[in-house]
Amino acid sequence: MRVVFAASEAVPFCKTGGLADVAGSLPAALAERGISITLFVPYYREVRVSFPDVKCVGEISVPIGEESVSARLLRLGDTIFVDCPQFFDRDGLYGDEEGEHPDNDDRFAFFARSILEGSRTLFKSVEVFHTHDWQTGLLPLFLKTLYAADPVIGKAAVVSTIHNLAFQGNFQKDRVPRFGLPWSVFTQDGAEFYDQLSFLKSSLVWADKINTVSPTYAEEIKTTEFGCGLDGALVARSEDLSGILNGIDIEYWNPESDDHLGERYGVDDFVEGKKACKRALQKETGLDEDPSGCLFASVTRISHQKGLDLALDPLERRIEKGDQFVLLGQGDAALLSRYESFASHYPGRVHLHATFDEPFAHRVYAGADAFLMPSRFEPCGLGQMIAMRYGTLPIAVATGGLADTVSPHGFLAARAERGSVSGVIEAASKAFGKKSAWRARVREAMRAEFSWRASAQQYETLYRDAAHVAATR
Ligand code: ADP
Repeated sequence: MRVVFAASEAVPFCKTGGLADVAGSLPAALAERGISITLFVPYYREVRVSFPDVKCVGEISVPIGEESVSARLLRLGDTIFVDCPQFFDRDGLYGDEEGEHPDNDDRFAFFARSILEGSRTLFKSVEVFHTHDWQTGLLPLFLKTLYAADPVIGKAAVVSTIHNLAFQGNFQKDRVPRFGLPWSVFTQDGAEFYDQLSFLKSSLVWADKINTVSPTYAEEIKTTEFGCGLDGALVARSEDLSGILNGIDIEYWNPESDDHLGERYGVDDFVEGKKACKRALQKETGLDEDPSGCLFASVTRISHQKGLDLALDPLERRIEKGDQFVLLGQGDAALLSRYESFASHYPGRVHLHATFDEPFAHRVYAGADAFLMPSRFEPCGLGQMIAMRYGTLPIAVATGGLADTVSPHGFLAARAERGSVSGVIEAASKAFGKKSAWRARVREAMRAEFSWRASAQQYETLYRDAAHVAATR
Protein backbone atom coordinates (compact mmCIF):
# COMPACT_ATOMS: atom_id res chain seq x y z
CA MET A 1 0.00 0.00 0.00
CA ARG A 2 1.34 3.46 -0.91
CA VAL A 3 0.59 6.22 1.58
CA VAL A 4 1.44 9.90 1.21
CA PHE A 5 1.90 11.54 4.58
CA ALA A 6 1.24 15.29 4.33
CA ALA A 7 2.54 17.31 7.25
CA SER A 8 3.50 20.95 7.75
CA GLU A 9 6.23 20.04 10.24
CA ALA A 10 8.24 16.93 11.07
CA VAL A 11 11.20 16.04 13.24
CA PRO A 12 14.15 16.17 12.49
CA PHE A 13 13.50 18.88 9.89
CA CYS A 14 11.34 21.45 11.67
CA LYS A 15 9.19 21.56 14.78
CA THR A 16 6.85 23.84 16.69
CA GLY A 17 4.93 21.16 18.60
CA GLY A 18 3.65 17.63 18.90
CA LEU A 19 2.63 17.30 15.23
CA ALA A 20 6.32 17.37 14.30
CA ASP A 21 7.06 14.51 16.71
CA VAL A 22 4.23 12.46 15.23
CA ALA A 23 5.15 13.16 11.61
CA GLY A 24 8.76 12.37 12.46
CA SER A 25 8.08 8.99 14.02
CA LEU A 26 4.77 7.47 12.85
CA PRO A 27 5.88 7.04 9.18
CA ALA A 28 8.87 4.94 10.30
CA ALA A 29 6.60 2.73 12.42
CA LEU A 30 4.27 2.28 9.43
CA ALA A 31 7.18 1.55 7.08
CA GLU A 32 8.20 -1.24 9.45
CA ARG A 33 4.76 -2.73 8.84
CA GLY A 34 5.50 -2.90 5.12
CA ILE A 35 3.67 0.27 4.05
CA SER A 36 5.39 2.40 1.36
CA ILE A 37 5.17 5.80 2.92
CA THR A 38 6.40 9.15 1.66
CA LEU A 39 6.40 12.24 3.83
CA PHE A 40 5.83 15.65 2.20
CA VAL A 41 7.10 18.70 4.13
CA PRO A 42 7.68 22.33 3.06
CA TYR A 43 11.32 23.23 2.45
CA TYR A 44 11.33 26.01 5.03
CA ARG A 45 14.39 28.22 5.42
CA GLU A 46 15.53 26.31 8.51
CA VAL A 47 15.22 22.99 6.63
CA ARG A 48 17.15 24.42 3.67
CA VAL A 49 19.97 25.44 6.02
CA SER A 50 20.17 22.13 7.90
CA PHE A 51 19.43 19.74 5.01
CA PRO A 52 21.06 21.15 1.87
CA ASP A 53 22.01 17.77 0.35
CA VAL A 54 18.86 16.85 -1.47
CA LYS A 55 18.08 15.58 -4.94
CA CYS A 56 15.63 17.35 -7.24
CA VAL A 57 13.16 14.75 -8.48
CA GLY A 58 10.58 16.91 -10.18
CA GLU A 59 8.92 20.25 -10.66
CA ILE A 60 5.29 21.22 -10.31
CA SER A 61 3.21 24.34 -10.63
CA VAL A 62 -0.05 25.30 -9.02
CA PRO A 63 -2.42 28.17 -9.88
CA ILE A 64 -3.08 30.63 -7.06
CA GLY A 65 -5.42 33.36 -8.27
CA GLU A 66 -4.00 34.75 -11.51
CA GLU A 67 -0.52 33.46 -10.77
CA SER A 68 1.07 30.12 -11.50
CA VAL A 69 3.39 29.25 -8.62
CA SER A 70 6.06 26.62 -9.14
CA ALA A 71 8.09 24.48 -6.80
CA ARG A 72 10.83 21.93 -7.02
CA LEU A 73 10.34 18.56 -5.38
CA LEU A 74 13.46 17.58 -3.45
CA ARG A 75 14.04 14.09 -2.16
CA LEU A 76 15.87 13.03 0.97
CA GLY A 77 15.30 9.33 1.75
CA ASP A 78 11.55 8.82 2.03
CA THR A 79 10.85 12.54 2.40
CA ILE A 80 9.90 14.96 -0.36
CA PHE A 81 10.45 18.63 0.38
CA VAL A 82 8.30 21.14 -1.47
CA ASP A 83 10.74 23.88 -2.37
CA CYS A 84 8.92 27.12 -3.09
CA PRO A 85 11.13 30.00 -1.88
CA GLN A 86 8.36 32.56 -2.34
CA PHE A 87 6.30 30.80 0.36
CA PHE A 88 8.79 28.93 2.52
CA ASP A 89 12.21 30.61 2.42
CA ARG A 90 11.56 32.99 5.31
CA ASP A 91 11.88 32.99 9.09
CA GLY A 92 9.31 30.99 11.08
CA LEU A 93 7.07 28.15 10.00
CA TYR A 94 3.74 29.89 10.51
CA GLY A 95 4.82 33.33 11.67
CA ASP A 96 7.61 35.48 13.06
CA GLU A 97 8.02 38.12 15.77
CA GLU A 98 5.47 40.24 13.96
CA GLY A 99 2.79 37.59 14.16
CA GLU A 100 1.29 35.03 11.80
CA HIS A 101 2.51 35.21 8.20
CA PRO A 102 -0.25 37.15 6.40
CA ASP A 103 -0.29 34.75 3.43
CA ASN A 104 -0.66 31.49 5.37
CA ASP A 105 -3.81 30.77 3.37
CA ASP A 106 -1.90 30.87 0.07
CA ARG A 107 1.10 29.08 1.54
CA PHE A 108 -0.80 26.08 2.83
CA ALA A 109 -3.37 25.88 0.03
CA PHE A 110 -0.33 25.75 -2.24
CA PHE A 111 1.38 23.12 -0.09
CA ALA A 112 -1.72 20.88 -0.06
CA ARG A 113 -2.16 21.10 -3.80
CA SER A 114 1.51 20.65 -4.56
CA ILE A 115 1.39 17.33 -2.67
CA LEU A 116 -1.33 16.14 -5.05
CA GLU A 117 0.56 17.47 -8.08
CA GLY A 118 3.77 15.89 -6.84
CA SER A 119 2.13 12.53 -6.13
CA ARG A 120 0.57 12.23 -9.56
CA THR A 121 3.92 12.84 -11.19
CA LEU A 122 6.14 10.80 -8.85
CA PHE A 123 4.04 7.69 -8.21
CA LYS A 124 2.19 5.10 -10.27
CA SER A 125 -0.65 4.98 -7.77
CA VAL A 126 -1.52 6.22 -4.29
CA GLU A 127 -3.93 4.37 -2.00
CA VAL A 128 -4.10 6.85 0.87
CA PHE A 129 -3.31 10.49 1.54
CA HIS A 130 -2.89 11.15 5.24
CA THR A 131 -3.37 14.82 6.17
CA HIS A 132 -2.73 16.54 9.47
CA ASP A 133 -4.48 19.59 10.92
CA TRP A 134 -5.61 22.69 9.02
CA GLN A 135 -2.37 23.21 7.13
CA THR A 136 -3.09 20.26 4.85
CA GLY A 137 -6.87 20.48 5.34
CA LEU A 138 -7.66 21.51 1.76
CA LEU A 139 -6.03 18.39 0.32
CA PRO A 140 -9.13 16.15 0.53
CA LEU A 141 -11.28 18.92 -0.93
CA PHE A 142 -8.87 19.48 -3.84
CA LEU A 143 -8.65 15.73 -4.40
CA LYS A 144 -12.40 15.16 -4.47
CA THR A 145 -13.09 18.13 -6.75
CA LEU A 146 -10.15 19.11 -8.95
CA TYR A 147 -8.43 15.71 -9.12
CA ALA A 148 -11.43 13.33 -8.96
CA ALA A 149 -10.84 12.13 -12.50
CA ASP A 150 -7.05 11.86 -12.24
CA PRO A 151 -5.96 8.34 -13.29
CA VAL A 152 -3.18 8.12 -10.69
CA ILE A 153 -4.64 9.69 -7.54
CA GLY A 154 -8.35 10.23 -8.32
CA LYS A 155 -9.46 7.11 -6.45
CA ALA A 156 -7.15 7.55 -3.47
CA ALA A 157 -8.61 7.66 0.03
CA VAL A 158 -7.96 10.40 2.57
CA VAL A 159 -7.42 9.98 6.28
CA SER A 160 -7.36 13.27 8.17
CA THR A 161 -5.92 13.49 11.64
CA ILE A 162 -6.88 16.29 14.01
CA HIS A 163 -4.01 17.13 16.33
CA ASN A 164 -5.72 20.22 17.68
CA LEU A 165 -9.22 21.38 16.83
CA ALA A 166 -8.52 24.85 18.17
CA PHE A 167 -6.39 25.75 15.15
CA GLN A 168 -8.73 25.78 12.17
CA GLY A 169 -7.24 27.85 9.37
CA ASN A 170 -10.33 30.00 8.66
CA PHE A 171 -9.83 32.54 5.86
CA GLN A 172 -11.80 34.97 3.71
CA LYS A 173 -14.27 33.38 1.36
CA ASP A 174 -12.77 35.00 -1.74
CA ARG A 175 -10.15 32.28 -1.33
CA VAL A 176 -12.63 29.79 -2.78
CA PRO A 177 -12.21 30.96 -6.43
CA ARG A 178 -8.62 32.03 -5.75
CA PHE A 179 -7.74 28.39 -5.04
CA GLY A 180 -9.65 27.18 -8.09
CA LEU A 181 -12.53 25.72 -6.08
CA PRO A 182 -16.19 25.86 -7.17
CA TRP A 183 -18.62 27.91 -5.03
CA SER A 184 -20.72 24.75 -4.66
CA VAL A 185 -18.32 23.57 -1.92
CA PHE A 186 -18.95 26.72 0.13
CA THR A 187 -22.00 25.56 2.09
CA GLN A 188 -22.83 24.97 5.72
CA ASP A 189 -22.36 21.24 5.22
CA GLY A 190 -19.18 21.91 3.29
CA ALA A 191 -16.17 24.19 3.58
CA GLU A 192 -17.97 27.23 4.99
CA PHE A 193 -17.54 28.19 8.64
CA TYR A 194 -19.20 31.44 9.72
CA ASP A 195 -18.87 32.87 6.21
CA GLN A 196 -15.20 31.95 5.96
CA LEU A 197 -13.36 29.19 4.12
CA SER A 198 -12.25 26.71 6.78
CA PHE A 199 -9.28 24.53 5.90
CA LEU A 200 -9.81 22.22 8.90
CA LYS A 201 -13.53 21.84 8.37
CA SER A 202 -12.85 20.98 4.72
CA SER A 203 -10.78 18.04 5.86
CA LEU A 204 -13.53 16.92 8.26
CA VAL A 205 -16.11 16.97 5.47
CA TRP A 206 -14.11 15.50 2.57
CA ALA A 207 -11.83 12.93 4.28
CA ASP A 208 -12.95 9.30 4.10
CA LYS A 209 -11.88 8.66 7.69
CA ILE A 210 -11.13 11.15 10.43
CA ASN A 211 -9.26 10.49 13.58
CA THR A 212 -7.88 12.39 16.46
CA VAL A 213 -4.97 11.56 18.68
CA SER A 214 -6.60 9.99 21.73
CA PRO A 215 -9.83 8.10 22.39
CA THR A 216 -10.99 10.57 25.06
CA TYR A 217 -10.44 13.64 22.84
CA ALA A 218 -12.33 11.87 20.02
CA GLU A 219 -15.37 11.82 22.34
CA GLU A 220 -14.84 15.30 23.81
CA ILE A 221 -14.76 17.10 20.46
CA LYS A 222 -18.30 16.00 19.71
CA THR A 223 -19.50 18.25 22.56
CA THR A 224 -20.02 22.01 22.53
CA GLU A 225 -17.53 22.39 25.39
CA PHE A 226 -14.59 21.00 23.38
CA GLY A 227 -15.87 21.17 19.79
CA CYS A 228 -14.61 24.71 18.97
CA GLY A 229 -17.75 25.23 16.89
CA LEU A 230 -17.09 22.12 14.80
CA ASP A 231 -18.88 19.65 17.09
CA GLY A 232 -21.86 19.55 14.71
CA ALA A 233 -19.65 18.64 11.76
CA LEU A 234 -17.94 15.99 13.86
CA VAL A 235 -21.17 14.47 15.14
CA ALA A 236 -22.30 14.23 11.52
CA ARG A 237 -19.15 12.19 10.80
CA SER A 238 -19.14 10.20 14.05
CA GLU A 239 -19.34 6.87 12.15
CA ASP A 240 -16.00 7.72 10.56
CA LEU A 241 -14.36 9.37 13.56
CA SER A 242 -12.04 7.49 15.89
CA GLY A 243 -9.28 8.14 18.40
CA ILE A 244 -5.80 6.64 18.09
CA LEU A 245 -3.37 7.46 20.83
CA ASN A 246 -0.08 9.00 19.76
CA GLY A 247 3.09 7.15 20.53
CA ILE A 248 6.53 8.61 21.04
CA ASP A 249 9.82 7.67 19.39
CA ILE A 250 11.22 5.56 22.20
CA GLU A 251 14.67 5.42 20.60
CA TYR A 252 14.95 9.19 20.41
CA TRP A 253 13.37 9.75 23.82
CA ASN A 254 15.52 7.28 25.70
CA PRO A 255 17.33 8.23 28.93
CA GLU A 256 19.69 5.27 28.44
CA SER A 257 21.18 6.64 25.22
CA ASP A 258 20.27 10.35 25.21
CA ASP A 259 23.28 12.39 24.03
CA HIS A 260 21.88 15.54 25.59
CA LEU A 261 22.29 14.16 29.13
CA GLY A 262 25.49 14.28 31.14
CA GLU A 263 24.44 11.13 32.98
CA ARG A 264 22.36 8.42 31.31
CA TYR A 265 20.17 5.93 33.13
CA GLY A 266 17.65 3.18 32.64
CA VAL A 267 14.92 1.58 34.69
CA ASP A 268 17.48 -0.37 36.77
CA ASP A 269 19.70 2.53 37.80
CA PHE A 270 17.40 5.53 37.64
CA VAL A 271 17.81 6.48 41.29
CA GLU A 272 21.46 7.51 40.91
CA GLY A 273 20.96 8.64 37.30
CA LYS A 274 18.10 10.97 38.06
CA LYS A 275 19.90 12.35 41.11
CA ALA A 276 22.85 13.30 38.89
CA CYS A 277 20.57 14.79 36.22
CA LYS A 278 18.66 16.79 38.83
CA ARG A 279 21.91 18.17 40.23
CA ALA A 280 23.11 19.04 36.72
CA LEU A 281 19.82 20.76 35.89
CA GLN A 282 19.96 22.77 39.12
CA LYS A 283 23.50 23.80 38.31
CA GLU A 284 22.69 24.72 34.71
CA THR A 285 19.70 26.84 35.73
CA GLY A 286 21.26 28.44 38.79
CA LEU A 287 18.85 26.75 41.18
CA ASP A 288 20.01 25.80 44.69
CA GLU A 289 21.67 22.39 44.47
CA ASP A 290 19.32 20.92 47.02
CA PRO A 291 18.23 17.31 46.50
CA SER A 292 15.45 17.35 49.10
CA GLY A 293 12.60 19.36 47.56
CA CYS A 294 10.44 18.22 44.68
CA LEU A 295 11.66 19.74 41.39
CA PHE A 296 8.59 20.47 39.27
CA ALA A 297 9.05 21.28 35.59
CA SER A 298 7.11 22.09 32.49
CA VAL A 299 8.12 22.05 28.80
CA THR A 300 5.35 23.63 26.85
CA ARG A 301 3.83 26.19 24.56
CA ILE A 302 2.57 28.91 26.88
CA SER A 303 -1.06 29.39 25.96
CA HIS A 304 -4.49 29.37 27.55
CA GLN A 305 -4.83 25.71 26.50
CA LYS A 306 -1.88 24.59 28.58
CA GLY A 307 -3.37 25.97 31.82
CA LEU A 308 -0.17 27.23 33.42
CA ASP A 309 -2.06 30.21 34.81
CA LEU A 310 -3.88 27.71 37.05
CA ALA A 311 -0.61 26.45 38.51
CA LEU A 312 1.03 29.73 39.49
CA ASP A 313 -0.49 30.18 42.97
CA PRO A 314 -0.31 26.50 43.94
CA LEU A 315 3.31 26.39 42.80
CA GLU A 316 4.15 29.46 44.81
CA ARG A 317 2.88 27.72 47.95
CA ARG A 318 5.17 24.75 47.23
CA ILE A 319 8.16 27.00 46.42
CA GLU A 320 7.68 28.74 49.78
CA LYS A 321 8.05 25.31 51.39
CA GLY A 322 11.32 24.47 49.59
CA ASP A 323 10.25 22.89 46.28
CA GLN A 324 11.56 24.17 42.93
CA PHE A 325 10.22 24.85 39.45
CA VAL A 326 11.80 25.01 35.98
CA LEU A 327 9.73 26.28 33.06
CA LEU A 328 10.86 25.89 29.46
CA GLY A 329 8.36 27.53 27.16
CA GLN A 330 7.44 30.36 24.89
CA GLY A 331 4.17 31.93 23.86
CA ASP A 332 1.65 34.18 25.59
CA ALA A 333 3.51 37.34 26.63
CA ALA A 334 1.22 38.26 29.55
CA LEU A 335 1.50 34.87 31.24
CA LEU A 336 5.22 34.70 30.53
CA SER A 337 5.74 38.01 32.28
CA ARG A 338 3.93 36.65 35.37
CA TYR A 339 6.31 33.68 35.35
CA GLU A 340 9.23 36.06 34.82
CA SER A 341 8.30 37.93 38.00
CA PHE A 342 7.81 34.59 39.75
CA ALA A 343 11.35 33.54 38.78
CA SER A 344 12.89 36.84 39.81
CA HIS A 345 11.04 36.73 43.13
CA TYR A 346 12.43 33.26 43.94
CA PRO A 347 16.01 33.12 42.63
CA GLY A 348 17.49 29.70 43.33
CA ARG A 349 14.03 28.13 43.37
CA VAL A 350 12.32 29.10 40.12
CA HIS A 351 13.88 29.26 36.66
CA LEU A 352 12.29 30.40 33.41
CA HIS A 353 13.85 29.63 30.02
CA ALA A 354 11.59 31.42 27.53
CA THR A 355 12.74 29.98 24.24
CA PHE A 356 12.50 26.83 22.13
CA ASP A 357 15.41 24.63 23.12
CA GLU A 358 15.29 20.94 22.23
CA PRO A 359 18.55 19.85 23.94
CA PHE A 360 17.58 21.67 27.13
CA ALA A 361 14.12 20.04 26.99
CA HIS A 362 15.83 16.64 27.28
CA ARG A 363 17.73 17.75 30.36
CA VAL A 364 14.55 19.08 31.93
CA TYR A 365 12.66 15.82 31.31
CA ALA A 366 15.54 13.92 32.92
CA GLY A 367 16.37 16.23 35.80
CA ALA A 368 12.89 17.02 37.11
CA ASP A 369 10.96 14.95 39.63
CA ALA A 370 7.45 15.87 38.50
CA PHE A 371 6.15 17.21 35.17
CA LEU A 372 3.37 19.75 35.24
CA MET A 373 0.77 19.78 32.44
CA PRO A 374 -2.51 21.26 33.72
CA SER A 375 -4.06 21.61 30.24
CA ARG A 376 -7.64 22.80 29.83
CA PHE A 377 -7.86 20.45 26.88
CA GLU A 378 -5.24 18.17 25.40
CA PRO A 379 -5.77 16.22 22.18
CA CYS A 380 -3.05 13.76 23.20
CA GLY A 381 -0.06 15.51 24.70
CA LEU A 382 3.42 14.12 24.34
CA GLY A 383 5.15 15.86 27.22
CA GLN A 384 3.55 13.61 29.83
CA MET A 385 4.63 10.45 27.98
CA ILE A 386 8.17 11.70 27.41
CA ALA A 387 8.33 12.66 31.10
CA MET A 388 7.29 9.18 32.21
CA ARG A 389 9.88 7.62 29.92
CA TYR A 390 12.47 9.71 31.82
CA GLY A 391 11.04 8.71 35.21
CA THR A 392 9.41 12.08 35.84
CA LEU A 393 5.87 11.72 37.13
CA PRO A 394 3.23 13.83 35.39
CA ILE A 395 0.74 16.08 37.14
CA ALA A 396 -2.14 16.78 34.77
CA VAL A 397 -5.85 17.29 34.29
CA ALA A 398 -8.15 14.38 33.38
CA THR A 399 -8.86 15.53 29.84
CA GLY A 400 -8.11 14.17 26.34
CA GLY A 401 -4.93 12.15 26.00
CA LEU A 402 -3.87 13.07 29.52
CA ALA A 403 -6.84 11.10 30.87
CA ASP A 404 -5.78 8.18 28.63
CA THR A 405 -2.10 8.05 29.60
CA VAL A 406 -1.33 9.57 33.00
CA SER A 407 -3.00 7.09 35.33
CA PRO A 408 -1.98 5.07 37.22
CA HIS A 409 1.54 6.52 37.33
CA GLY A 410 0.99 10.24 37.69
CA PHE A 411 -1.44 12.61 39.38
CA LEU A 412 -4.68 13.71 37.74
CA ALA A 413 -6.81 16.71 38.69
CA ALA A 414 -10.49 16.15 38.00
CA ARG A 415 -10.95 19.59 36.44
CA ALA A 416 -8.87 22.40 34.98
CA GLU A 417 -9.59 24.65 37.93
CA ARG A 418 -7.20 26.24 40.37
CA GLY A 419 -8.47 24.28 43.40
CA SER A 420 -8.31 20.95 41.63
CA VAL A 421 -4.84 21.65 40.18
CA SER A 422 -3.62 22.85 43.55
CA GLY A 423 -4.84 19.59 45.13
CA VAL A 424 -2.76 17.41 42.78
CA ILE A 425 0.35 19.58 43.07
CA GLU A 426 0.12 19.23 46.85
CA ALA A 427 -0.51 15.48 46.53
CA ALA A 428 2.50 15.02 44.25
CA SER A 429 4.79 16.96 46.54
CA LYS A 430 3.62 14.91 49.51
CA ALA A 431 4.06 11.65 47.59
CA PHE A 432 7.58 12.75 46.61
CA GLY A 433 8.44 12.75 50.33
CA LYS A 434 7.69 9.01 50.61
CA LYS A 435 10.79 7.83 48.82
CA SER A 436 10.24 4.10 48.34
CA ALA A 437 6.63 4.45 47.13
CA TRP A 438 7.71 7.28 44.78
CA ARG A 439 10.49 5.16 43.34
CA ALA A 440 8.14 2.24 42.78
CA ARG A 441 5.87 4.59 40.87
CA VAL A 442 8.76 5.97 38.82
CA ARG A 443 9.85 2.44 37.95
CA GLU A 444 6.37 1.57 36.67
CA ALA A 445 6.10 4.83 34.72
CA MET A 446 9.43 4.13 33.00
CA ARG A 447 8.21 0.67 32.06
CA ALA A 448 4.93 1.89 30.59
CA GLU A 449 4.42 1.27 26.86
CA PHE A 450 4.35 4.51 24.85
CA SER A 451 5.88 3.27 21.61
CA TRP A 452 4.09 3.50 18.24
CA ARG A 453 3.69 -0.28 18.00
CA ALA A 454 -0.01 -0.60 18.86
CA SER A 455 -1.04 2.70 17.32
CA ALA A 456 0.77 2.06 14.02
CA GLN A 457 -1.29 -1.10 13.72
CA GLN A 458 -4.47 0.92 14.27
CA TYR A 459 -3.42 3.44 11.60
CA GLU A 460 -2.82 0.61 9.17
CA THR A 461 -6.36 -0.65 9.83
CA LEU A 462 -7.71 2.87 9.38
CA TYR A 463 -5.87 3.22 6.05
CA ARG A 464 -7.36 -0.08 4.84
CA ASP A 465 -10.86 0.98 5.95
CA ALA A 466 -10.48 4.33 4.19
CA ALA A 467 -9.15 2.68 1.02
CA HIS A 468 -12.13 0.35 1.08
CA VAL A 469 -14.55 3.31 1.34
CA ALA A 470 -12.74 5.12 -1.51
CA ALA A 471 -12.76 2.03 -3.73
CA THR A 472 -16.55 1.85 -3.46
CA ARG A 473 -17.25 5.52 -4.12
P1 ADP B 1 1.55 20.68 21.57
O1 ADP B 1 1.71 19.94 20.30
O2 ADP B 1 0.12 21.04 21.90
O3 ADP B 1 2.43 21.89 21.69
P2 ADP B 1 2.52 18.24 22.86
O4 ADP B 1 2.65 17.86 24.29
O5 ADP B 1 1.73 17.33 21.99
O6 ADP B 1 1.96 19.73 22.79
O7 ADP B 1 3.97 18.35 22.20
C1 ADP B 1 4.87 19.32 22.59
C2 ADP B 1 6.23 18.91 22.04
O8 ADP B 1 7.00 20.11 21.87
C3 ADP B 1 7.01 18.03 23.00
O9 ADP B 1 7.92 17.25 22.26
C4 ADP B 1 7.77 19.06 23.84
O10 ADP B 1 8.95 18.51 24.41
C5 ADP B 1 8.10 20.10 22.80
N1 ADP B 1 8.26 21.47 23.30
C6 ADP B 1 7.26 22.34 23.67
N2 ADP B 1 7.79 23.53 24.04
C7 ADP B 1 9.13 23.42 23.89
C8 ADP B 1 10.23 24.31 24.10
N3 ADP B 1 10.04 25.55 24.54
N4 ADP B 1 11.48 23.86 23.85
C9 ADP B 1 11.68 22.59 23.41
N5 ADP B 1 10.69 21.70 23.19
C10 ADP B 1 9.43 22.10 23.42
